[in-house]
Parts: sequence; C-alpha cells; structure tokens
Amino acid sequence: MLDKFAIAAALQEIGTLLELKGGDSRFKARAYQRGARSVAGLSVDIGKLIEQDRLTSIAGIGNALASHIKELYQTGSSSVLKNLRREFPPGIIELSGVPGLSISKIRTLHEALGITSLSELKAAAETSRVRKVKGFGARTEEKLVEAIANHQKRGNTDKLVHIHHAQHLGEQILNYLQTAEGLQDASFAGSLRRWKETVEDVRVVASTNQPSGLIEHFLRFPLVVQVQHRSANTCTVLLADGTRASVIAARPGNYLLTLLFETGSEAHVNRLRQLSKVKNLSLNNRNVGLRQSSGKHARTERPMSHLTDIRSEADVYRYLDLQYVAPELREDEGEIEAAVAKTLPEDLVMLADIQGMVHCHTTYSDGKHTIEEMARAAQGMGMKYLTITDHSPTAFYAGGVTADRLRMQWDEIDELQERVSIRILKGTESDIVASGALDYPDSILEQFDVIVASIHSRYKMDSQKMTERLLTAMRQPVFKIWGHALGRLIQRRPPFDCDVERVLDAISESRAAIEINGDPYRLDMEPRWIREARKRKIRFVISVDAHSTGALNNVKYGVGIARRGWVRKGEVLNTLGVKAFLKAVRPVS
Ligand SMILES: [Zn+2]
Ligand SMILES: [Zn+2]
Repeated sequence: MLDKFAIAAALQEIGTLLELKGGDSRFKARAYQRGARSVAGLSVDIGKLIEQDRLTSIAGIGNALASHIKELYQTGSSSVLKNLRREFPPGIIELSGVPGLSISKIRTLHEALGITSLSELKAAAETSRVRKVKGFGARTEEKLVEAIANHQKRGNTDKLVHIHHAQHLGEQILNYLQTAEGLQDASFAGSLRRWKETVEDVRVVASTNQPSGLIEHFLRFPLVVQVQHRSANTCTVLLADGTRASVIAARPGNYLLTLLFETGSEAHVNRLRQLSKVKNLSLNNRNVGLRQSSGKHARTERPMSHLTDIRSEADVYRYLDLQYVAPELREDEGEIEAAVAKTLPEDLVMLADIQGMVHCHTTYSDGKHTIEEMARAAQGMGMKYLTITDHSPTAFYAGGVTADRLRMQWDEIDELQERVSIRILKGTESDIVASGALDYPDSILEQFDVIVASIHSRYKMDSQKMTERLLTAMRQPVFKIWGHALGRLIQRRPPFDCDVERVLDAISESRAAIEINGDPYRLDMEPRWIREARKRKIRFVISVDAHSTGALNNVKYGVGIARRGWVRKGEVLNTLGVKAFLKAVRPVS
C-alpha cells in the first residue's frame, strides 16, 4: 500500500503529464496538482479516510480524484498514470523544461541516443553526438548547449522565498524524509536554519547510512518538478511553486560537520576555518583534524582519532576554543570576536521563555476572532496572559475603537475574566499621529494596562520630520511599546526614513520599550537595529500582532528575529510573569 507521499507523487506526475499534453487536459492537470498538494499536506491517516469513504471531505478532492487515490492506495499503481507514461518518452518532465525542446524533439533524441535526462542530454550535446541526429545539426546543438546552460543558471538566481513559506515546505520535506529507509536524523540548514527573513532555498541535511538511497527517495517527493543538480549525496530541485530545495545526505559520522557547513553563513564558516588554521587544526565538512606540523610529514593532515567525540556542534566550537554560536547568530557580524572573548550572550531568549501574547486584535477592530476566542487560544498555548490591543479611533479604516466602544470592550473583558484562567490585559494599539501625539486623550490612555504605539499613516514624511514625530511620541509621559517600529513589509515596502539612532537614544531616556513584531511579513525592527537598541539597554517585547487565533503562532518568528538581534531572555518584558509584566509596562508609574 502506498503512503500519502507516494500517492501525492503519482498525482503530481499525472498533473504534469496532462499539462504537457496541453489543450483541454490543462484543466484536468490543475485538479491533479491541487489534489497532490492536499494529499501531501494531510494530517490524518489516508488509509482511514479511504476506509471511511471520506476522501471527498478534503478540500480539492472530488469524486473522480478520490477514485484514483483509492486505486493508488489499494493497488500501488494507477491506470491513468501508466497510460500517460506510455504516451511520452522517459525523462519528459525534466527535459521539457528546456526552452526550444519540443516533445517531438525529445522523442527523437530518446529514440536515437537513448536520452532520458537533462544530464545525459548535456553530455551528448557537449560531445557532439546530438548534431548527428536527423533534424538537429551543429547549430541546433550549439543552441541546445546554450539553452541548457541558461536554464540551469536561471534556476540558480531564483526568487527569494519568504521565511514562513520556506518553513512550511521545509517541514513537509522533513516529514517526507522520515519515510526514507535508514534515515537517522535530519535538520533544516542554510538561511532557513538561521531564521533569515527570506531564503534562497529550502535546505535540509540528513544523516543516513544510505546517502544515495535517500537522494533517490527525495527525488520522488511529490512537489518536485525539476532536478537542477544531482550527485550521489546531494541534489537541488525546483518545487511545484518555483521554490528551490536542496537535500544533502551525510553519513552519521559526518552529519554534524556537514550540518555546520551547510548552515553557514559562508562568511561565518570561513572565519571558523581561518581560526582552525591558527590553532593548527584543520576543519572541513568531513572532520576536524590535527595538522601535523613537524617532521617529514609536515603539511599532511591526520584526522583526529576522536572524531566520534563530536556529539554536537558545540563540540566543534569547543575544539576551536570558542563559545557556542547559535545558528541565528552565524553571520560574521561580530559573533566570532565575541565568542573568542567569551562575551557572547548564553541566555538568548527562547520560545519557551515567552509567557504572554502581546499585541492581539479582535473583532472590535480588524481582527477575525472575538476576545474570548483569542484568550482561549492563547491559554491553549500555555500562555499566562495576553494583551488585547485593538486599533485606536484614528485608524478608522481598521475599525479603530471609539471611547464608548472601549467601555464595552472593558466590560466584556471583566465578564470573560471570571470564566478563563489566562489573564486578559486591557490595551490599545494607539496611533502615533502626524504630530507625534498618541491617539485617545491622556485620561483614557492612563487607564490602559498596556499601550502599543504605532505609525499607520503618513509613511512618506521626510526623514527629519519623521524623526521629530517619533522623538515626540517616545517622550510622551505614558509608558508605551513602539509597535512595528520602522513600518517595513518584507518584499513589499521598505522601512521608512528616519534617524533611527536618535530615536533609540530618546527611547533609552524615556518610558518606552521596543516591539519585535512576529508577523512574518513585518519582523520589525530588523536585527542590526535590535543590536543597536541593546547597546542602549532598551527593553523589548516579542509580539504576535495577531489578527486571528492562528496568527498567535507568529510568536516563533518574533523569537527567531530577536535571537538574530542577540536578545537575551532578561531583556524581553513578556518573559516576565503577569505581575512583573504589568508593573513594567504600566502607562503611569
Ligand atoms: Zn499596527
Ligand atoms: Zn497591530
């Protein structure tokens, strides 16, 4: 019986082949591709669904698709797929990605030269075998070599992928690899593991006794549509949505070092290698070795006999006489120097440290869920408190809460508080208006438990005016948390112009803290500014800016970006219990 991934792979292949057929088949193709994604993403057992005849209850799966899935599950094959495969030469999906290579040309090449893959075609063209095939000639061959090179290059300069999309795909890949024979361990690597806001590829390193088998297995992952590069133990592919993914298979003895190298950044790893030379060690992705520097064997490298002593990445750093550097810090932005001097913070904030969800919207403004739904969801995540911070009246387009509706909200919170154990704090996301004043009169502001102060309009002020606006806001006598500080929207809107360092100076002398916004499209402020704020001993909150219960999960992105800013647990106000938190953020001292 096939598992869900094998079934999804078959559906994906049917979809791709139907698309190649063209014409009316394209519509059917889309249905299969949608079905493949639904099946691969299932969180319930597909066997049970089939048994209970409930496949069609899944979004994207109709009656026809359901019967194909059933056939695949029960017989291990599909008559539709078999017939389609017979219509095309082997390797068609990969080869048809090369511009100018029509299906009939691919068929001719297969019949004449037995070509079944892009690498075989490349080799044939480079050794002048293609030009001898009827209908090809020298010029066509040259063009083909060029087209293959461009094709592979284009794949290498692909778009950057947003972190939460990359994580989602990465988790599907990890989940899929769990079904591979001989897998011992697997982890994200690359910028995905370093929690960068956008990543070039979804990279995974796996530990296995059968590297080539694992790569073979990964190539059957249902969302793979094109293989860009492949060797015995690595491969890079394009997924159906255009995201690039790489899997690197290492034998268990090499796993940790491979993971270290593949996590990068390149600059960080290069610094480690330089340091190892100074210490007469050699460090590469296979081992940490002692360099023999005397006698006639000078310069030859002898692997350390206690290679097996490396049980964690921390051991590698220890060999180099460094503090352990967490992946989020590996950018060569001062972390090596700090690790040498042993001044790197060792108590970086962690997800488990967070006790309260800060910055939650509800149906009172532009949120999707009620106060009760938000509170119960936060409670379900083990939180001790949450702050309800709907928009203020100036943000009328977002349903800003007027003073009388605010009374209603507070009454509702009081009533609800009787029924839930999580503490609900009364707050606002008050607009910083153009003058730098906060929305709501002081008499109301003073009654909140917590104030988030944010800019939502007039982003395009010149830098000087914007700086004045922020200085005025931060110096307001009430305590406020500067919300989504510089207003960036990743890949959509750059941070606004202002003299950030002057504003940070003002915050360090005022009653204010800075939000690290976990909305994956904001992740504001960015790590370099967080580090500047830390120098000034400014406090942070890690917020969710949640407009739905699902968005409470944003907290993990907030923690990721905070760690990239080297933030320690003690610097984050919502790692405090409710009493201490309330005291720290109380608007009036
Ligand atoms: Zn906002
Ligand atoms: Zn908000």
